[in-house]
Amino acid sequence: MINIKTFVFNAFQENTYLLSDSSGECIIIDAGCEEPSEKDELADYLEDNGLKPVKLVNTHCHIDHILGVAYLAKKYDLPFYFHESEKALFSHSQNQADMFGLSLELPLEPAGFLNDGEKISFGESILELIHISGHSPGGICFYDEAGKNLISGDVLFLESIGRTDLPGGDYDSLIGGIKEKLLGLDPDTVVYPGHGPTTTIGHEKESNSFLR
Ligand SMILES: [Zn+2]
Repeated sequence: MINIKTFVFNAFQENTYLLSDSSGECIIIDAGCEEPSEKDELADYLEDNGLKPVKLVNTHCHIDHILGVAYLAKKYDLPFYFHESEKALFSHSQNQADMFGLSLELPLEPAGFLNDGEKISFGESILELIHISGHSPGGICFYDEAGKNLISGDVLFLESIGRTDLPGGDYDSLIGGIKEKLLGLDPDTVVYPGHGPTTTIGHEKESNSFLR
């Protein structure tokens, strides 16, 4: 069973998720820790729970989701992965940081890319990768079928969807992707978005006005 720990980091109130299981291994999704206190909070959690991080993965590469990647990659010697269609966004990380006056330690190059339909693993756990473009070109959702959990990035929020007015955004792709690939999941699946509280697929099917 996968345990999901949520951290809320940086000025954008971004959700960083740490997924672990009884093996003691864990992965970090969207490492957004920026302030020293945020980095300490994450490091303390790892230490207190005896967890060993094995990879950094991202739902996408907007600045608020990558602020802690370089720090953690160096500290724990971790490989970093995202969808190939985020390459352009990733290569403009410094511009994104400058635009918001953020200090960014430039992340390292990715060790590889995450592809739609593939699976990644850590410890005894497996996550399925679901590619949905529209908020950003290479948006990836991480699906834990056994535990009925979905890390949705900025694709799907509680009664809302990701914004599509940023470079590479596309409203129809986002709505189409959510309907085609997410709404068919078990209604009890808990959705962990990139910002704000959790929801479920069933609740979004009923109450999300963007998806009517
Ligand atoms: Zn975003």
